[in-house]
Parts: sequence; C-alpha cells; structure tokens
Amino acid sequence: MPLYEYRCAECGHRFSFILPRYDSPDPQCLKCLSNNVKRLISKFSVIASEDSRIERLADSSVWTDVDENDPKSVARWARRMEKEIGEDLGDEFDELVEKVESGEIDDSSDIDERSSEEESANDEL
Ligand SMILES: [Zn+2]
Repeated sequence: MPLYEYRCAECGHRFSFILPRYDSPDPQCLKCLSNNVKRLISKFSVIASEDSRIERLADSSVWTDVDENDPKSVARWARRMEKEIGEDLGDEFDELVEKVESGEIDDSSDIDERSSEEESANDEL
C-alpha cells in the first residue's frame, strides 16, 4: 500500500494519498482538481524496490499481524518496518505514520470534506 505526499503545482495544496498500486497514476489535487501535482515522498516505493530487503522482511515477524483495513495496525507495521530496516526514515515518515494511525488519511472522502472546510475558512480571510 504505497503512501505518497503530493504538492499541487497550481494552488500549492499539500496532501497525502494512498495509491492502490505502485504504478497507479498520480491523483488530482484534492483542492483544485488540477492534474499538475508533484510527488514529494515515495519512501514506500523506494523500500519496495530493494528486493533483498523485502525478502528478508517477508521472513520476519514484521508482517504477521498487519490488517490493511486497520490504520493503527498499518501504522504499527510501518514503525516496526522502520526499525527492521535499521534506517531513520525521517520526520516526514513519522508524520505520515501518525496521520495513518489517527485515521486522518485513511479515507479519501474525509480528505475531500476537510479540503472544502479549509476553502471556506480561507474565504473568510
Ligand atoms: Zn491544487
């Protein structure tokens, strides 16, 4: 389940997006629906491309109790994976994991609602 962060080149809106597949096309901007979005983070895909590591990970206990439908389970897995790899994937990775864990980016329809709320808040300024 590759998780990416994007920035819209049109309106500058930043958002996270979980792609169903690694080769899925980039999403539209959640705010202005532009297709002109730039991918900021692709650490999951970088990790996945390192086959030997993935094979080693596949044999480890990291994978045992992951429920893809449970954001907290996925977040727990991501943290363990970070430890297993033995690399600090950085604050951005930690932030993404926390977002997943809190359910903030679990459902894209929630993001849509939040975006429109932000828009109306901006209008008041
Ligand atoms: Zn935009």
